[in-house]
Formats: sequence, C-alpha cells, structure tokens
Amino acid sequence: MAEERSCRICGKPFLPNKYRPNQTICSSLECQYQRQLDNMKTWRGMNPHYFKYKETQDSSWKETCRRRSLDWRKKHQEYLKLYREEHRDRHRNYMRDYMRDYRKQNKLTQENKPVA
Ligand SMILES: [Zn+2]
Repeated sequence: MAEERSCRICGKPFLPNKYRPNQTICSSLECQYQRQLDNMKTWRGMNPHYFKYKETQDSSWKETCRRRSLDWRKKHQEYLKLYREEHRDRHRNYMRDYMRDYRKQNKLTQENKPVA
C-alpha cells in the first residue's frame, strides 16, 4: 500500500495514485488547477520565444488567423449594415419626434419668457 504524503500545494495528507508514484500534489481541483498554472509558467519560462516563433515563422498559421479576422470583420460589417438598415426608419422617426418635442419645448419657453 502506498505511503501517505502531504500535498506540495495545500499541505494536506493524501495517498498518491499507484500509477503515479511520484505524485506530489493531491487530487483536489484547486491543487490540480494550481499545478496546471505552475506547469504553464515553468514551460513558458523554458520556451519564452515559443509564441513569438509561432507568429513569425508559421506563415500558414498566421494566414489562417488573418483570414479568420477578415471573415469576422466582413460578417460584422454586413451585420452592422443590416442593423442600420433595419433601424434607419426607427431612428428617423425617433429624431423627428425628438426635434418636434425640442421645438415645442423651445417655443413654450420663448412664449413664457417675460417681455422685457
Ligand atoms: Zn492539495
């Protein structure tokens, strides 16, 4: 039977998995998540130029990204255009009402102004 040991992260005692005798972290979600973060940090520390390398060297990947963002922009613009067309009348009506109220309000204040 495996020996009980304390978790490197939370310090709680746990029984290592028999398939992973070198396990130093318990199986709680928090500790596993922390372990993943640590792994990522360590890995990035060892490969600081990995992402840069990917971006500058892998032209097909770059092209894919570029195309994807262009597609997104195109779709987005089409969507905005449709949206504007759909709301143009509503906006026009809104502005017309707004201006009518504004003029009315203006007229009222003008009329109520005491004659100097
Ligand atoms: Zn733990």
